[in-house]
Amino acid sequence: MQSETADTRGRHLRDLRISVTDRCNFRCTYCMPKEVYGRDFQFLERSQLLSFDEINRLVNIFKDHGVEKIRITGGEPLVRRQLERLIEMLAQDPSLDLTLTTNASLLKQKAQLLKDAGLKRVTVSLDSLDDTVFRAMNDVDFPVAKVLAGIEEADRVGLNPVKVNMVVKRGVNDSAAVEMARYFKGTGHIVRFIEFMDVGHTNGWQMEHVVPSRELVEQINQSFPIEPVEPNYTGEVAERWRYVDGSGEIGFISSVTQAFCRDCTRARLSAEGSVYTCLFATRGTDLRMLLRTGGTDEQISDVIGNLWRARTDNYSEVRTAETAKQRKVEMSYIGG
Ligand code: SAM
Ligand code: SF4
Ligand code: SF4
Repeated sequence: MQSETADTRGRHLRDLRISVTDRCNFRCTYCMPKEVYGRDFQFLERSQLLSFDEINRLVNIFKDHGVEKIRITGGEPLVRRQLERLIEMLAQDPSLDLTLTTNASLLKQKAQLLKDAGLKRVTVSLDSLDDTVFRAMNDVDFPVAKVLAGIEEADRVGLNPVKVNMVVKRGVNDSAAVEMARYFKGTGHIVRFIEFMDVGHTNGWQMEHVVPSRELVEQINQSFPIEPVEPNYTGEVAERWRYVDGSGEIGFISSVTQAFCRDCTRARLSAEGSVYTCLFATRGTDLRMLLRTGGTDEQISDVIGNLWRARTDNYSEVRTAETAKQRKVEMSYIGG
């Protein structure tokens, strides 16, 4: 039975982002800088990670609170072994919108398995088409060509439309935005430009690094005229635009310059089973303990319901240079 769980601002719980690992084979400089995530970094032990059965159980409880969309993320979700088994479990409910965000390094090998398991679509992160810039940004010398091959394979097996996320950082890859739009224009894939955010506290975020989406809209519009499109649904994160010539759509995720907290329906589950009601949260609520000490579904459901009903989060509406320095949960831990 589905109940409607609304928070203190009347926002319903609709989306759950599940991080299945805190590990990643990339070291994107804005997410897992090598100086922090080096050889000595203590990642979670396997026993600390929620098992697929535990995740599946939690998802069923979250569904009772209104969750209808699941995004699997990480770290890099495809480095978690046999991820397709989890997909298969979650896909038992065909009404669930089941998607995954990946750096695509393993997508070429995995796309068909994921599709067969019941995954609906993928979002691929790609910050530049310039091989030198991209290799420097992922900081493990990973080539653009392999990401593009992953995108093609995802499209071929039907995990589409593929969304391509580009985080734009001033002075690093901002000059590559128009080229990114040009490359995917007419392919059916949807590029989304993301403002660099002050997630966590290890990425050295400063306001000067942010390229406001307005600026990119103008740049792209000069090369390829675009016009705004109505959102698909309330709470859609990306502002949608389409090419006037009918050759497709692009999106802008402007968490910094145009906060969308008012419609934020997202909860996040970390790989070790803590729930966060905001991407910029400083602490989560542990569910693993209850799961592993005989907690009943009702008890777990009560914790989730009470947490969501008490939710007041609106970080992006009140962000300042000071809040940006606070110790917040890291992106690679919570999954974006
Ligand atoms: N490893 C997968 C990937 O990169 O797609 C999934 C996890 S990653 C944390 C999810 C998304 O968060 C990626 O698209 C990444 O570019 C984005 N991201 C990471 N740090 C960010 C930041 N500081 N600001 C904006 N987006 C960020
Ligand atoms: Fe890994 Fe994704 Fe973070 Fe890059 S953005 S370091 S691929 S988790
Ligand atoms: Fe949602 Fe928090 Fe982002 Fe606002 S800042 S949109 S509440 S995740």
